[in-house]
Amino acid sequence: MSALQQDATAPPALIFVVEDDAAISQLVVAALHEYGFATEAFRNGGALLRRLAATRPALCVVDLGLPDMDGIDLLSQIGALSGCGVLILTGRGHMVDRVMGLELGADDYMVKPFEPRELVARVRSILRRHSGTALAVKQRRHASFLGWSLDCAANILRASDGTEHLLGSAETQVLRAFLERPHQILTREQLVGQRELSASDRSIDVRISRLRRKLEGDPQNPQLIKTVYGAGYMFAAVVSWT
Ligand code: CA
Repeated sequence: MSALQQDATAPPALIFVVEDDAAISQLVVAALHEYGFATEAFRNGGALLRRLAATRPALCVVDLGLPDMDGIDLLSQIGALSGCGVLILTGRGHMVDRVMGLELGADDYMVKPFEPRELVARVRSILRRHSGTALAVKQRRHASFLGWSLDCAANILRASDGTEHLLGSAETQVLRAFLERPHQILTREQLVGQRELSASDRSIDVRISRLRRKLEGDPQNPQLIKTVYGAGYMFAAVVSWT
């Protein structure tokens, strides 16, 4: 058995492939089949997310340049829904996408054009790491700060007295972005996961003011979610994850 092949006694690991270029998608799927993986292919982000709501694959191969949604936004939604391994595919020159993708939890990336065998090797490597401690880190779901706790899977924010607030998914996404990078200035784009945010888009400010009303003693004078004028926002508390 080659080092790339799977253990024949184990059920084949399921890999989701989202790629709008049919030729590349077929190449990836064929290579994965050759080495014993089961696959499902999707042509856009929406189709992948609908499937992820029902089934958890071992790993997603994600093209960042999809027709229906921003690749970075898609990555954060995959992370929220599944916590599975992620290998991203990008075009040459998309360094910013790669860096942001890795920051958002992708495990590795490949630049097109790539050698299909190399892709299979990267997939195997990610799955090996995920069977160990990396999986526990990726599946972390509870964050605690200043007596508060956030259950990222259930979108529930708990106060120290046990009061529960059910957050919207957009609100949870923003709070989670803060909790993953406390004491760092985050731009509005980083907080909503969209690079094409226009200056007139106030949705992020609405989400922040909702969070402040829940979290801050005096929302007009925030101590926790601080505004950094001209730069973005910063979460000012120590966070621990379990
Ligand atoms: Ca594409």
